[in-house]
Amino acid sequence: MNITEQKISIEKVKQSKINQVDFDNLSFGSVFADHMLVCDYKDGKWEAPKVVPYQPIVLDPSSKIFHYGQSIFEGMKAYKDVNNDTWLFRPLENQKRLNVSAKRMAIPEIPEDYFMEGLKTLLKVDEQWIPKNEGSSLYIRPFIFATGQGFHASPADEYKFIISCAPSGAYFSGKVKVLIEEKYSRSANGGVGYAKAGGNYAGQFYPTQLAVAKGYNQVIWTDDNTHEYIEEAGAMNIFVRINDTLITGPTSDRILDGITRKSILEIAKDEGITTEVRKITVAEVIAAAKDGSLKEMFGAGTAAVISPIATFGYRDVDYDLPENEDSMATKLKKRITDIQYNKTEDTFGWRY
Ligand code: PMP
Repeated sequence: MNITEQKISIEKVKQSKINQVDFDNLSFGSVFADHMLVCDYKDGKWEAPKVVPYQPIVLDPSSKIFHYGQSIFEGMKAYKDVNNDTWLFRPLENQKRLNVSAKRMAIPEIPEDYFMEGLKTLLKVDEQWIPKNEGSSLYIRPFIFATGQGFHASPADEYKFIISCAPSGAYFSGKVKVLIEEKYSRSANGGVGYAKAGGNYAGQFYPTQLAVAKGYNQVIWTDDNTHEYIEEAGAMNIFVRINDTLITGPTSDRILDGITRKSILEIAKDEGITTEVRKITVAEVIAAAKDGSLKEMFGAGTAAVISPIATFGYRDVDYDLPENEDSMATKLKKRITDIQYNKTEDTFGWRY
């Protein structure tokens, strides 16, 4: 059944919380909009989505999410332009990736119209929650998890798809210091690294805590097999600029196919920047840091857009990145955010 036959019902809050929110001092993802979209999967099908007040969820202790971790999510944003119009950035990419994650975690896929019509209905109800301040946006978190019950290790028969939203301020990461990790791995060949599965992030926390204890903010993940190749920066894709070439690793079983990453690659080409998608060795990054050809390193992802790395550590030595007047990170961030906030023409057709 498609969504025009399955009407989306709306139950509004009695009293909005919006007046309690200081939109000038928003942190990232810690206050939540009045409503959420909820859609249940039962008896082999997704039921009609509902917009309901944001509220806790009651679950049976044997729900499989608690035991076998069937849980996937997405991260996207809604932006307001100067005319107060609302924009999304490549939302169908998030919908498709959610289903790539669903398939890998034996979770039923969510139909495109349930996702898109559900999201649009929710955003219309909570439109006032989309911040208008420069650099702010409404962070959108679609997720699916197993509510089906039983202590037997098998996929659940019931799930919930939820979209909830958090008005969020511009994400300033400050001077980021990262550690190239050689012991722990985020993902492996044949594993689930390419999925946005909750457990991937749980597995990252402990190695990240160890790096933080050593004075770093984040971990740079290397490949699980040899630890010779740089793969991701925390929960972001990574770019390395050597001389005037911008390089990022190829996506694989182990690397999330980031929407910011692929957008940056296209924008960079459009700006006349030489790009390479190939494996990046730790050895070449160290050599480039030593001979001065390493100009920039940055993480790319929806939350921070682009997060420049100031220092990286490897085997007890710290390497500082230079300050660049012609920073590619700054230029690319401006171009992508100008598209997102409808400040420039969108020749790529990404704005929605
Ligand atoms: N890698 C990982 C592991 C991530 O969690 C994210 C955030 N979704 C990214 C990369 C960046 O992806 P995107 O640009 O689609 O946000």
